[in-house]
Order: sequence, then structure tokens, then C-alpha cells
Amino acid sequence: MRPTYPVTELLGDGIGAELSRAVHTLADALPVRLDFTPVDLTLANRRVRGKAVYDEAVEAVVAHKVALKYPTVTAEESPNAVLRRRLDLSVIHRPVYTIPGVPTNFRRDLDLDIVRIATGGTYDDPGRAIGDDGAVSLRIVERRPVREAARYAFGLGRKTGRKVTSASKYTIQKATDGLFEAVTLEVARQYPEVAHDVELFDALLGKVIMTPERFQIVLVLNEYGDFLSDMACGLAGSLGIGASANLAFDPSAVVRVALYDAAHGTAPDIQGKDLANPTAIFLALAMLLAQLGEVAVGQAVKDATLDLLRDGVRTRDLGGPESTDSFTAAVAAEVARRTALAVKPVA
Ligand code: NAD
Repeated sequence: MRPTYPVTELLGDGIGAELSRAVHTLADALPVRLDFTPVDLTLANRRVRGKAVYDEAVEAVVAHKVALKYPTVTAEESPNAVLRRRLDLSVIHRPVYTIPGVPTNFRRDLDLDIVRIATGGTYDDPGRAIGDDGAVSLRIVERRPVREAARYAFGLGRKTGRKVTSASKYTIQKATDGLFEAVTLEVARQYPEVAHDVELFDALLGKVIMTPERFQIVLVLNEYGDFLSDMACGLAGSLGIGASANLAFDPSAVVRVALYDAAHGTAPDIQGKDLANPTAIFLALAMLLAQLGEVAVGQAVKDATLDLLRDGVRTRDLGGPESTDSFTAAVAAEVARRTALAVKPVA
């Protein structure tokens, strides 16, 4: 009997249906069983059912603790923003790394885990005008999400042996960024075995470009994480194949729910043409498997996907000959082969 895990599947728009089919094909090849509960977050269903569809989604995600989300059209509302607020997803973990076989102008190897506080900073307040000639907005930093993100980052450091760098503008934004660095330092003291250094955020951007090998896990406030993620993805050439974990925590800062998604959108221009590249959603699935405790299976999904890309098994967007279906079949076969080898008893 394969171990079974319940997973909420948040169905989306555009290429979402093709990506879901690809995920199911891959899931069938795994040595574990994922028992998917689908919730229809397509625009058509959101328009018909309104708030009820989000109630259903939130209930399922909370019950199952993990979810895989396909891209959705932002129309009247952003489903991502609604889910983030309703599930209290306060931290985003975005791994960004150069992938051999993915074209990039950057000649160095980059391998970052960006841990971003997903609330506050300057993003929770759109600001207001002061007369005709000025405007002001609040910058909000709160202890709780900083502590959650810091514990997650240092926990990742403990598991992987990687260094944590916290970056902010604490010399200028003394109260807000000062609080961020102070809370980070409190958490760092609980993880003495994890190396920690502090950078000014503007300096960090330059250093990531010049000496990327110096940086591993980077912990940052909301807007800095936004800027850094796009810059790093641009360097790695992987804007379209990035994946993220969106995390909510219980009071002891343990992950309460985790929602995994691809960074790209619904790609309406290629919908239904068997051209969608499922790499990002496969990498999201790999992270989900690790969160379920199936670390080796998650690693097999990630490694098989990346090794095939390196060997030229690529979809059209990456200059290869494969379709969604043929790429998926190749990854599924490779994952099945590797996980079967891993459990084969030694003769
Ligand atoms: P997009 O990412 O959908 O598409 C940009 C380009 O990248 C297109 O040419 C598309 O064909 C290509 N592309 C994207 N994903 C691909 C894949 N997996 N395989 C091959 N090619 C791929 O961005 P957009 O056109 O700006 O947005 C379209 C819609 O997606 C919008 O409604 C937007 O709101 C939504 N969106 C949703 C999310 C999300 O749900 N996480 C994220 C971004 C955009």
C-alpha cells in the first residue's frame, strides 16, 4: 500500500487544466498516493459562486494543510490576495537557481532560497495625498510575521546546512527595519549552528550579481523580497519556471498550512495547445512532497525534471521539441525509475 496524503487542488484558468492533467500523470507515477480534493477557482465559477467558492477553498486547505494552486485570472479580485488574507499566509519561500539548459545571459551559478515576509512593509497601505503636492504612506513591520519568517529561514538553514543572510535598510529605516533585524537576531540565537550575516539591502542586490555564491538563504521584508525575487529570477533566466511556497503558521511558528504555486500566469495565448511547460508546477509539487515529509520523493521529482531539461528534453518555450504531454510522460517515467531504484533491496 502506498502511503496516502490528502491534498487540496485549487483549479485555475487558461493552461490550468492542462497543468492539472500533467500533475495527475506525474502523481500516478509516485511511490506515494496523493488524494486530491479539487476546488474550482476558475473565473467562471468564482463569478457564479462568489464568496462561497473561497469558503470552500479555505475549508479544504485548512483541513488538508497542503494545497497546490494553478494560475488564476485576476479580474474583479485577485484569488492569490484573497487566499493570502483568508489563510493568513504570512511568508513566501521562493527558491531561485540557475538551471543548466535554461537560457540566461548570466554566467554565474545562483542558488538562493528567498524567504519573504508576505505582509506589511509598504504594501499594506496604498498611501494618501497631502494636498496637491505630496503623498504619504505607512510602512508596517510587525514582530509576529518577522518571527515566523525568521524561524522558517533558520529552520531551513538547520535542515540544509545553508547560511542565512538578513537584508534590510536598518541604518535608515531605523524603527521598522531595525525591528526586523532585532527579531531576526533573537531567532538566530536559537539556531547557533546556523551561520547568519546581515547586509544592507541595496548592497545585497549588487553582491548577488557579483558574487552569487556567497548567498544561500536570504530573509527579507515584503517589498525587498518582491524586488529580489524578480531580479534573481531574471538572472537565473527562470521567470517562467519559478515556484513558491506560501506559508501560514501556528502560534509556535510551526507551518499550519502551505500553498504551493507556479510563479507564471494563465498563459491564455497557448491554452489548449499542448504547449504549456509544466516545470514550475512540478517544482511546486516537489516542494509540497517535502513538506509532507516525503523529502526523497520530492527530491526525485525536482532532480528528474531538472536533469531532463539539462539533457534537452524541453518544451517549446525553452527551445525544445516537447509538448506538455510528452514532457510530462518523460518526467513521470524518470521519477518512477528513480524512486523504484531507491526502494530496491540491495542484493
Ligand atoms: P503569463 O505568465 O500568463 O504569460 C506570459 C508569457 O509567458 C506568455 O507568452 C505565456 O504563453 C508564457 N507562459 C507562461 N507560463 C507558461 C508555461 N507554463 N509554459 C509556457 N509558456 C508560458 O502572464 P500574463 O499574460 O501577464 O498573465 C495572464 C493572466 O494570468 C492574467 O490574468 C494574470 O492576472 C494571471 N496571473 C496569474 C498568476 C497566478 O495565479 N499565480 C500569476 C501571474 C499572472
